[in-house]
Amino acid sequence: MKTQMLNNGTVIDHMPEGMGFHCLDILKKRLNGNETLIVFMNVPSGKLKKKDMIKIQDFYLDEATSTYLSLLAPQITINIIKDGVVTKKINPEIPHEIKGIISCVNSRCITNTEGYTPEYDIRSKEPVTLKCKYCEFEFTPK
Ligand SMILES: [Zn+2]
Repeated sequence: MKTQMLNNGTVIDHMPEGMGFHCLDILKKRLNGNETLIVFMNVPSGKLKKKDMIKIQDFYLDEATSTYLSLLAPQITINIIKDGVVTKKINPEIPHEIKGIISCVNSRCITNTEGYTPEYDIRSKEPVTLKCKYCEFEFTPK
């Protein structure tokens, strides 16, 4: 699929089918509400059977959000487009540890009650499992 209707912006590609809207929810906090965007769902794909894809005009995804999305779907690719050309292709790597981005699911964790910035070790990559450095709770981000 070509980058029609998108001269400058971000394409988030190779999301597993059904993830498009979930991804949009995550992006809402980063978007200012004026961006033109398109969500493609159930696009036939060789890599996966079907995939979802989002194109956002005049918006460049930051590294933290790219990492977050890679934790939800390790196979995603992010393309940054300028003047109709893909200038950057990001295959976000799952890091060994992360800070911030995701809230600890343990509601009694001090990162939730005292406002500490959550920090996690990545315990496994398939599926992605995070271990909170404060309360040692392990979970798969959603
Ligand atoms: Zn915790």
